[in-house]
Amino acid sequence: MKHDNSRNLYDLALQLIPGGVNSPVRAFKAVGGDPLFFKAGQDAYLIDSDDNRYIDYVGAWGPLILGHRHEKVIAALSAQLQEGIGFGASTEAEVNIARKITELVPSIEKVRLVTSGTEATMSAIRLARGFTKRDKIVKFEGCYHGHVDGLLVKAGSGALTLGEPDSPGVPKAYTKLTHVLSYNDIDGVKKIFAEQGDDIACVIIEPIAGNMNFVPPLPGFLETLRECCDRHGSVLIFDEVMTGFRVAKGGAQSVYGVKPDLTTLGKVIGGGLPVGAFGGRADIMDHIAPIGPVYQAGTLAGSPLATAAGLAMLEVISEDGFYENLHATVCKLTDGLKQRAAAAGIPFSTNQQGGMFGLFFSEEPEIRRFEQVMACNSEHFQSFFHAMLDRGVYLAPSSFEAGFISAAHGEAEIQTTLDAAESAFQAIN
Ligand SMILES: *Cc1c(COP(=O)(O)O)cnc(C)c1O
Repeated sequence: MKHDNSRNLYDLALQLIPGGVNSPVRAFKAVGGDPLFFKAGQDAYLIDSDDNRYIDYVGAWGPLILGHRHEKVIAALSAQLQEGIGFGASTEAEVNIARKITELVPSIEKVRLVTSGTEATMSAIRLARGFTKRDKIVKFEGCYHGHVDGLLVKAGSGALTLGEPDSPGVPKAYTKLTHVLSYNDIDGVKKIFAEQGDDIACVIIEPIAGNMNFVPPLPGFLETLRECCDRHGSVLIFDEVMTGFRVAKGGAQSVYGVKPDLTTLGKVIGGGLPVGAFGGRADIMDHIAPIGPVYQAGTLAGSPLATAAGLAMLEVISEDGFYENLHATVCKLTDGLKQRAAAAGIPFSTNQQGGMFGLFFSEEPEIRRFEQVMACNSEHFQSFFHAMLDRGVYLAPSSFEAGFISAAHGEAEIQTTLDAAESAFQAIN
C-alpha cells in the first residue's frame, strides 16, 4: 500500500502544526509509523490521500454511528445551508433537538447545547459546584472528560498514550480539589464518602469507560455511586459524551438502570459536527444563567448546522431495532476476532456493547480494571494494528482507545475484517 501523499502532507503538517496533528491521539505515537491523511469517507469506508480504502472502526471517534455521509444527515445539512449557517439567536431546531434528547434520555429534564464534550463536562462541574456550594470533585482513573484543567488527572487514552497523565500547565491548585479513585473500586467510593461525603460537590464518571479501551462497570458499582451521592447530597454526573446514543438508545444509564443527576453528551448528538450538551434534573439546570447565578455561554452554541445534523442522526437511531442490529454486528465482529486469535494462539479478549467494542491482548478473560488494561501486551497490539492497516482495516491507533462500528458495517465488512484478522493474528509472532 502506497502512502506517499500522506507522508508528504505529514512532513508539511509537522512544520505548521505541533506534532503535525490537531489532536494528539491522531499521531501514531502509540503504534509507531506516520499518521494517515484522509480525504473522503462513504458508509463504512475511509479513503486516504493516496486513494487507499479502509473499513473504518474509528468513526470520527464515535460520532459517525450511521457511517460516513449518511443520506439523511447530508440532506439535513444541505437544507440548512440554504437557510443560513448561524444566527447567534434561538432557533426551532434547538427546541426540537432538546425535546428529542429529553425523550431519549429520561433523566435529562432540561438540556443546554455547547460546542464540544470538553465544554460540556467543564460546565456540568461548574454547575454541580454552584448548585451544592461545595468544591471537591471525584473522578476515576482512566476516565477522560475532555482537557479541562481540573480533570486532567489520571485521564485516559490521549493522556495515557503520551504517558503524561498530569499535564504541565495545570496548576496544582486546580487539581487539588479533584480526588481520583480506581474504576470499579466500590470500597474506595464508600470510603471517600464516609470521610468527606459532605464536602463532595460531584462525582463524574464514564458509566462505561471508553477512554481506557472499553471497560464496563461491575455490578453494584454505579449503584454505589448513586447511593453515596444521594446520602450526601452530591451530584452524580455521567459523562456519556462517548457512550450516549452509542451503546444504547438511552446511553449507558439505560443499560444499567442507574439514573444520574446530570449527563454530558457530545460526539453522536452532533452527527459529526462539533457539538456537546449537558443536561439533567430541572432543579439543578435552573441554576444556570440567565435564570440562575452559574455562568455559562457560547457564541456558536446550538449551531444550526450541528443541530440539523444531530437531529437527523437522532431520528434514525430512534428507529426500532437500531441498537439490537448494531449489537448483533459488534458481537459477530468480536466473536470472530476471538476465534481467530485463539486459532493463532494469541491471548485475546474483548468487551462490547451496542456500537462499541474493546480489544485486549491479554490472558484475562474479563477486563474490568485500569491495571488490567495497562497490563495488556502493547507489542501485540502494535503489530496487529499495522497488519490490519496493511489489509485495509483502520483501527484506532492506540490500545487505550475503544473501537466503533456503524450501521453501515454489514456482513461483507465484518467478513473482510475477520479475514484480515486471521492473517494479522498469525503475523504477530
Ligand atoms: C471525547 C470525550 C470528551 C471530550 O469531548 P471533546 O468534544 O473532544 O471535547 C469528554 N468525555 C468523554 C467521555 C469523551 O469520550
